Amino acid sequence: MKKVVEIRSLNFTYPDGNTALEDISLDIFKAETLGIIGPNGAGKSTLLLHLNGLLNGNGNIKIFDKPPIKENLSFIRSKVGFVFQDPQDQLFMPTAYEDVAFGPQNLGLKKQEIDKRVNDALGEVGLSDKKDHLSYHLSLGEQRKLSIATVLSMSPEIIVLDEPNSNLDPASRRHLINLLKNLTITKVIATHDLEMVLDLCSRVVLLDKGRVIREGQPKGILSDKTLLEFHSLEVPLSLSLNK
Ligand code: ADP
Repeated sequence: MKKVVEIRSLNFTYPDGNTALEDISLDIFKAETLGIIGPNGAGKSTLLLHLNGLLNGNGNIKIFDKPPIKENLSFIRSKVGFVFQDPQDQLFMPTAYEDVAFGPQNLGLKKQEIDKRVNDALGEVGLSDKKDHLSYHLSLGEQRKLSIATVLSMSPEIIVLDEPNSNLDPASRRHLINLLKNLTITKVIATHDLEMVLDLCSRVVLLDKGRVIREGQPKGILSDKTLLEFHSLEVPLSLSLNK
């Protein structure tokens, strides 16, 4: 399988002295769906922010063979789309159309190509009928989908999502999971939703205290009660019921 991200011995300390990542080594492969799990404060978000150069710790990272140095950042960000947990961090234009068009417009594309990209992206997330709606009037589930559309309109090769399910009602959660299932690009998802990891992810990484604790097939890791409880997580219900 083709490696799209290579991380070696990555360490990151916030300016206040808080060490968030310690000696992380990890590869990400084309077309996989990688789940990043771990308790609060494990370093999940900090790790994700390294995947498109929003943070830059000590160590070696290569994203599509390029280190995230200044001159590579626009290339890297064209390949790696980041979906923030809070749609307020992603959506800042009045309407859904304008939010999704913002990225393609900045690429200097022609109006016709922008329209196509916006319509395709809104179609992919099931929001075609909300095109002219005010972004801030949409429900949280719709705003999450719209945030994903803002990234898809840039045709990325990797989509990185930080807690895409948090605070969604069950129906919105299910919609979002189905949407992600249908996206064939490489996905990296930090989440507390271990049922979703089982359903979606081909591989999972367990982080705690800034370190990789375990990495492998979701079913094996997520059925290890002792391991999960030691790291403040729980075996998902569907696996505990199957025992
Ligand atoms: P997770 O996403 O797994 O909850 P984070 O990456 O948010 O973990 O946090 C990892 C560690 O870094 C925690 O100890 C957290 O308190 C700390 N941290 C996160 N953001 C900041 C920040 N902006 N400044 C200082 N410390 C931070």
